[in-house]
Amino acid sequence: MSKKPIKKEGRGNGCPLYKKCGGCQLQNMSYEEQLSFKQVRCIRELGQFCHVEEIIGMEKPLHYRNKVQAAFRNVGGKVISGVYQSASHKVVLVDKCFLEDEQADEIIVYIRKLLPSFRLGAYNEDTGRGFLRHVLVRRGFSSGQIMVVLVTGSELFPKKKDFLSRLLSAFPQITTVVQSVNNARTSLVLGKKEIVLFGNGYIEDTLCSCRFRISPSSFYQINPVQTEVLYKTAIDFACLRKGDSVLDAYCGTGTIGIAAAKAKEIQLTGVELNESAVRDAVFNARLNGIKNAEFFCADAGSFMLDLAAQNAKPDVVFMDPPRAGSDMNFLRSLVETAPERVVYVSCNVETLARDLRFLCKNGYSVKKIQPVDMFPHTNHVECVTMLKKTNVL
Ligand code: SAH
Repeated sequence: MSKKPIKKEGRGNGCPLYKKCGGCQLQNMSYEEQLSFKQVRCIRELGQFCHVEEIIGMEKPLHYRNKVQAAFRNVGGKVISGVYQSASHKVVLVDKCFLEDEQADEIIVYIRKLLPSFRLGAYNEDTGRGFLRHVLVRRGFSSGQIMVVLVTGSELFPKKKDFLSRLLSAFPQITTVVQSVNNARTSLVLGKKEIVLFGNGYIEDTLCSCRFRISPSSFYQINPVQTEVLYKTAIDFACLRKGDSVLDAYCGTGTIGIAAAKAKEIQLTGVELNESAVRDAVFNARLNGIKNAEFFCADAGSFMLDLAAQNAKPDVVFMDPPRAGSDMNFLRSLVETAPERVVYVSCNVETLARDLRFLCKNGYSVKKIQPVDMFPHTNHVECVTMLKKTNVL
């Protein structure tokens, strides 16, 4: 875990779409400057709680995104694919992105070029007509397995077999293709109905010496190199002891808890809202030979209320909520169940500061804060925070 990996590389990543796209908010800075900028921001928001460790950056901060999503549009009789312009619904044509997996980008461009020969176009959100809305590509960092999800406006997929065979012969590395049907007026990418067109409908990957199965809609961290750093830090901060009862809240496919259970024999409980992620978590625990593990599909706040009502007392709670942070149900019941150690993994320093303020007023103190740069060139920063129960309430 090197903390000083960065050579000066000049400013940003030199992307010609920088201004149009808006995804890389910090591209006007060198990577070293980006890290300092993030460090200052963490200190400003979190320095009131404890010393903030030096941010851990990447050695090669490019092409780290192993999940790539492209929106499709008909523009002037042509199909374009790319990303939504920052804060708009306009699609910017992107063939290559400095942050994205290069093979994923090639697959997306190939699909776009394949469409006209099948007389297929992009879906039109206003008329509800047309075929392709999005393409999502996920690539297992260590397994190399590739999942392609074609998000279509309806189940209709003319000349499906020919289309697939062209795609698969161009990219034999693709291990599964899924059609996700999304006919709703929504900004969500994936639809509710999934049809497996090739392979088994998921990919597997290895992180922290554990194997994980990932379905199309399950959350999986998008920067595998830094995810290992993040998880190792979180597990280290948990100071696990054999036999500890551990709650992994907002657990996704169970990755943090399972990696922790692999490191130490613990009693693991996971809670997560997304049903298919929970199914993956159950499968993943078995895949890694973890026996003392249970996963629940529920709102983490309601689940925590139930735990508090049952007088349950976990020894350690990992919590890794989305950007909005946790909620009062969760935080109040957390305080009531009074675990000795809490490890808060956060992707938003503002909501983290808000939640830490509550916990610090209610019997916890912050012992360590470690920022990890999960999203170079963007203004996002991830932090792992260690909290311990103090005796005074
Ligand atoms: N710890 C996991 C997932 C973190 S992302 C990992 O590292 O991969 C946050 C997760 O919280 C997502 O999987 C999301 O589906 C889940 N989530 C969002 N709101 C939730 C809620 N109210 N209760 C439980 N889980 C929730």
